[in-house]
Amino acid sequence: MYTLPKNTPDNTLLQAGRINEERQFKEVSVEHERSRRTLGELLIRKEGEHPEKFKKEAPEDAPVVQMVNNLLSHAAGRDASDIHLEPTEKGLRVRLRIDGVLRDLTTYSREVMLLIISRLKIMAGMDIAEKRRPQDGNIQFMLDKKHVNVRISTLPTINGEKMVLRLLSPDKIIMPIEKLGFNMENQKRYLKFLANAFGMVLICGPTGCGKSTTLYSTLQYLNSPSQNIVTVEDPVEYRLDGINQVQVNNKTGFGFASALRTILRQDPNIIMVGEIRDSETAEVATRAALTGHLVFSTLHTNDAPSAVTRLLDMGVKNYLLTSSLVGIVAQRLFRLICDKCKEEYLPPEEELAFYREVSGNSKIPSFSRGRGCEECGFSGFKGRTAIHEVMTVDGEMRRLIMKSRNTEEIRRYAVSQGMQTILEDGVQRAAEGVTTLKEVMQAAYVTGDRPFACQGTTP
Ligand SMILES: [Zn+2]
Repeated sequence: MYTLPKNTPDNTLLQAGRINEERQFKEVSVEHERSRRTLGELLIRKEGEHPEKFKKEAPEDAPVVQMVNNLLSHAAGRDASDIHLEPTEKGLRVRLRIDGVLRDLTTYSREVMLLIISRLKIMAGMDIAEKRRPQDGNIQFMLDKKHVNVRISTLPTINGEKMVLRLLSPDKIIMPIEKLGFNMENQKRYLKFLANAFGMVLICGPTGCGKSTTLYSTLQYLNSPSQNIVTVEDPVEYRLDGINQVQVNNKTGFGFASALRTILRQDPNIIMVGEIRDSETAEVATRAALTGHLVFSTLHTNDAPSAVTRLLDMGVKNYLLTSSLVGIVAQRLFRLICDKCKEEYLPPEEELAFYREVSGNSKIPSFSRGRGCEECGFSGFKGRTAIHEVMTVDGEMRRLIMKSRNTEEIRRYAVSQGMQTILEDGVQRAAEGVTTLKEVMQAAYVTGDRPFACQGTTP
């Protein structure tokens, strides 16, 4: 566990990053030349030996140690979800993913690049001599009394090792249900799903739409000494207290389906299956939900009604599905307008037309946007939350699923029962001034796909 200094002044990092040229590097590091040389020698001498030994010998005040510490604390301080370290012909390009968008941070020289990559590999317990094979590692550090877990993976590219660091902080992964972004009505519906003693609850959406956060937060909400909660995940993203988490291992044949079968012999109450990827897992999960367990899982469908047809397409029998399904949530993440630079504005006609079409409202409310300021890195946005559609599977919907597998029909019925589509939820947030119409359009539309949520609003 590393403890990093908080509030690292950005200029320390940027100054370090400006070391693009040898001349500048010398200027900055002249006082650390001795430790830098020592580190360089150590790198050569210790290659292939156990990294722990190396770590002990690396002086804590070595510039590379500070540079890496600064980079990590800067990224965590800016709420970045990922740090990309990309070797190019000239040096190491550093980008941060903040609120879902990659942004350039700085560039290091190739000399510094090798030191940084090696330092990170040492911190993560990886083999510093191995440069031709992908590796995985983990770093944990404390920043401002907050625990941050970093998952690192390397990828050998033609210019050297590319490294991606995923920053996982507990307050981003687990939050109270009321902080998940559900509007009042949707939250009420979702909590009703959780009150069931058994059945299947599905969370849908593309990669990176916050499904894991919803699931982890839900498990935490349900966690109590009277419940045996077991998860099957690939990978286990975050460790939860009081919950039995199982890591899938496809190499040894311990996949989702076989792990699920084993778990069912372990007297579980609540089961979370990371993802339903194949028909076998779909089948076992459905049966588990039917035999007195509350089962949570995710599916890669754009919206809630499509999840039903996807499971039917996977070969799950409709009578099994109708008896097990409790409800389906589809979600997307969108960026919130930065509070510091928020201003009212009139969106372009194209966006207003979109608003009118989705909301069915001809009266235009006052919309807001972020002008862009230092606080938000001049993006106009700071922080993210989710929009949802929450579909309850009731008796009538069960009858519908039994007699047909028509997504449109299921959607129409759900909407008639008060389901708000993702787009409807989104434009409402824009009308409330927490985000922009453009952001809703980008968040809810799937690139190259048709505007799925609009389908709910057209007959
Ligand atoms: Zn701002």
